[in-house]
Amino acid sequence: MAGGSSPCASCKLLRRRCAKDCIFAPFFRPDDPHKFAIVHKVFGASNISKMLQELPVHQRADAVSSLVYEANARVRDPVYGCVGAISYLQNQVSDLQMQLAVAQAEILCIQMQQDPTLPIQIDPNNFNNNLPQYLSFASSSNVIQDPLKRESLWT
Ligand code: ZN
Repeated sequence: MAGGSSPCASCKLLRRRCAKDCIFAPFFRPDDPHKFAIVHKVFGASNISKMLQELPVHQRADAVSSLVYEANARVRDPVYGCVGAISYLQNQVSDLQMQLAVAQAEILCIQMQQDPTLPIQIDPNNFNNNLPQYLSFASSSNVIQDPLKRESLWT
């Protein structure tokens, strides 16, 4: 709606004329003023404009989505922002990996109690060797691998 009757949410908030080639217009519709207000509050309009200009056009919508997500997380959690959410999820992964390792060990014990002649399905040495891998899983940066390299996280 750039240059039309109603300016985009960004230009409306910044009280400026919405030009035909307004970089914000495709992403910040006038009917959703909160979306721009929050990224402007956290990152500043000129920084957002610069960030979008440095990106190829087809990646801008995803960049806006992630900026909005990060801004909301930052407002909700002023200390950790979205790192707080990532850390929480990494801890959950770590806990679940531990529970899985314990459950697999219990299954092994039960199998061996029920039938000691049963061929061992999991080599205990191998299993123990795998343990540090389970434990180090959460500290590896699997979750935060360069998001720009992915095609799209939001569609
Ligand atoms: Zn505009």
